[in-house]
Amino acid sequence: MRRSNCVEVSKLEMMGMRGGAGEAEVKFNDCVVGDDDVLGKVNEGFKIAMVTLDLARIGISGVAVGLSQGVLDEALEWAKTRTAFGKPLIDWEWIQFQLADMKTKLEIGRTVTYKAAWLYDNKDPLFVLYASIAKLYTAQMAVEIARDGVQILGGFGYSKESFSERAYRDAKVLEIAEGTNEAQKIVIHRILTRGLPEVEL
Ligand SMILES: Cc1cc2nc3c(=O)[nH]c(=O)nc-3n(C[C@H](O)[C@H](O)[C@H](O)COP(=O)(O)OP(=O)(O)OC[C@H]3O[C@@H](n4cnc5c(N)ncnc54)[C@H](O)[C@@H]3O)c2cc1C
Repeated sequence: MRRSNCVEVSKLEMMGMRGGAGEAEVKFNDCVVGDDDVLGKVNEGFKIAMVTLDLARIGISGVAVGLSQGVLDEALEWAKTRTAFGKPLIDWEWIQFQLADMKTKLEIGRTVTYKAAWLYDNKDPLFVLYASIAKLYTAQMAVEIARDGVQILGGFGYSKESFSERAYRDAKVLEIAEGTNEAQKIVIHRILTRGLPEVEL
């Protein structure tokens, strides 16, 4: 049995990630649910939610890697073709170092994401630790790479014409959704001090 008027939904406008279904605050007021509404087993919901979150963190890391790759591709192309003060941007050492730093961070992020996914595929409980490490590292990486991409593009980077402008806004939520950076640090610290949690894979 379900009382549909017990659910209150109010749509929220977000700074980025506008291509999806959208976000809303959902409130449940005295909702009555029947036995046929139960998903999984009673009293095991928290465990199910936690494993789902661990897995979703690898997905977020994949988003961070893809977004950062897009920013780097755009920055590299721009640096090769844009001329400033008599030579292409790519000939300026600061731009070269910046691109090298972006690439280095990106490949570290990609590798740790693949490692987390590989551990999950191989049913290794260590995946819980690596999912949080990958999520923490790649979310911060995406924000940094998007900011640096916008900088290399200059005024064009700040305009809606560039991919990096959208990427900069989209990247921020990667540090928040599926557990904030701080939540990942709590998980990593707990595993460091108490060992891995029990997970069914
Ligand atoms: C675009 C978007 C999509 C989302 N999609 C979903 C979804 O599909 N499903 C879903 O369930 N949720 C979703 N969320 C919610 C998201 O998971 C939460 O916003 C996020 O987990 C942070 O929780 P909060 O907003 O309540 O922040 P809070 O918990 O209020 O935290 C605020 C700040 O305090 C810090 N903080 C909190 N507790 C501690 C602590 N113990 N130690 C140190 N620092 C702490 C946090 O890290 C954060 O910086 C989405 C959010 C956004 C923005």
